[in-house]
Amino acid sequence: MTVVLNLLEQRPAAPRHPEKAHRPDQPVERKPAWIRVKAPGSPQWAETNRIVRENKLVTVCEEAGCPNIGECWEKKHATFMIMGDTCTRACAFCNVKTGLPGQLDADEPAHVAEAVSKLGLAHVVVTSVDRDDLADGGAAHFAATITAIRASNPDTTIEVLTPDFFRKDGALERVVAARPDVFNHNLETVPSRYLTVRPGARYFHSIRLLQRAKELDPALFTKSGIMVGLGEERNEVLQLMDDLRSAEVDFLTIGQYLQPTRKHHAVMRYITPDEFKSYEMIGYSKGFLLVSASPLTRSSHHAGEDFARLRAKRTQD
Ligand code: SF4
Repeated sequence: MTVVLNLLEQRPAAPRHPEKAHRPDQPVERKPAWIRVKAPGSPQWAETNRIVRENKLVTVCEEAGCPNIGECWEKKHATFMIMGDTCTRACAFCNVKTGLPGQLDADEPAHVAEAVSKLGLAHVVVTSVDRDDLADGGAAHFAATITAIRASNPDTTIEVLTPDFFRKDGALERVVAARPDVFNHNLETVPSRYLTVRPGARYFHSIRLLQRAKELDPALFTKSGIMVGLGEERNEVLQLMDDLRSAEVDFLTIGQYLQPTRKHHAVMRYITPDEFKSYEMIGYSKGFLLVSASPLTRSSHHAGEDFARLRAKRTQD
């Protein structure tokens, strides 16, 4: 008898993060008692899952391994990640697959808009992988997605969480011209940790991006977020708050960094709930309209409720 081996099937799957494959394993600390999440699996969660699959969408909830997916998807709140599932950067904290992405899907804006309708979202968050391979960094695709959502869901407010469009002249202008309600771009960490944590980015470029977005459209809400527990000092977080306020950023989110795998950056420290509370109070004293600081705060967590609070606060002032 001749046995034919299917060598293709036996080939091991390509690593999700090829640039990290040869890095030494990092220690994994036990999570403290205050980091507890809702397990996914409720009927509402399954319905969100079905709509995401049927529309062939990618979500950052899944790709980033977000701990809040049980809670958010139960409320039918999913954050769509456009332009594929593969990122051209290789940040030390991020679980999104890295490598050379495929071509853009011209139908994706329509699919996202359809999913927003099916989920009945009052507020939607759209993010993307970094697409340094595209001449405009994906700005036109962001704009097309905003336009498609607006056309079929005129009452839905739209938040974009964009890459930094580093060296992509005109990209930010293109996204802002499509009139999202919230422009979000995450600093991720303090400047002293950039080379280790976010080596492909530049801190002051990101600050300037946020400032420029507000200059282009003063009615826009601007938002940024960081993770803590990556080795930053408290004073550096306070300085970062001042930098964001100088750029007139309205909303700051601060959450605990959680390590996706042993090959990712280690958790240097678990910040206590009291320390988060203190960051929140200081953030308000520095003039942010809204601050969300807690172990499980993520950029898009409770984004709809937070947007309503932002709008109400601006009206009060
Ligand atoms: S916090 Fe954001 S990324 Fe995480 S599950 Fe909720 S919507 Fe998705």
